[in-house]
Amino acid sequence: MTLLKEWWMMNEKIINDEKINDILEKARTSPLSTIYRIFEKAKEKRGLNLEEVGILLNLADSEHIQELFNIAHQIKEQIYGERLVFFAPLYVSDFCVNDCEYCNFHVRNKELKRRKLSLEEIEESIPFLVDLPKQLPSDEISSCL
Ligand code: SF4
Repeated sequence: MTLLKEWWMMNEKIINDEKINDILEKARTSPLSTIYRIFEKAKEKRGLNLEEVGILLNLADSEHIQELFNIAHQIKEQIYGERLVFFAPLYVSDFCVNDCEYCNFHVRNKELKRRKLSLEEIEESIPFLVDLPKQLPSDEISSCL
């Protein structure tokens, strides 16, 4: 039995809908002092827990939402500055235990023939990814930027 199957049989999911909905419901009644405390914690880049993220997702006041965007922009500037960060489009596996409605890889999709790449296949893919920009017409590269 694969590790993934074993884990799935334990009936555990990465995304716990009930817990997320519970957090979002509780977050609706957060006092202003809590919202400001979360803003300060975010500015210090200390990371936010699920309850704090739930409170930010429930912000309704336009000034609070603007403050959230300002802080997000500050943090982005401090961490990334003007750099562009690219991710290699390499799917190592399409097995998934979650059930996101919009995604073809969701666990209910029994039609999908799933597979994972071997270490050799991953290694073979790397040179292709490295050379990919050279194979694209230059106007396509600039339209991606
Ligand atoms: S692969 Fe698809 S179903 Fe799985 S967590 Fe990502 S988005 Fe959701």
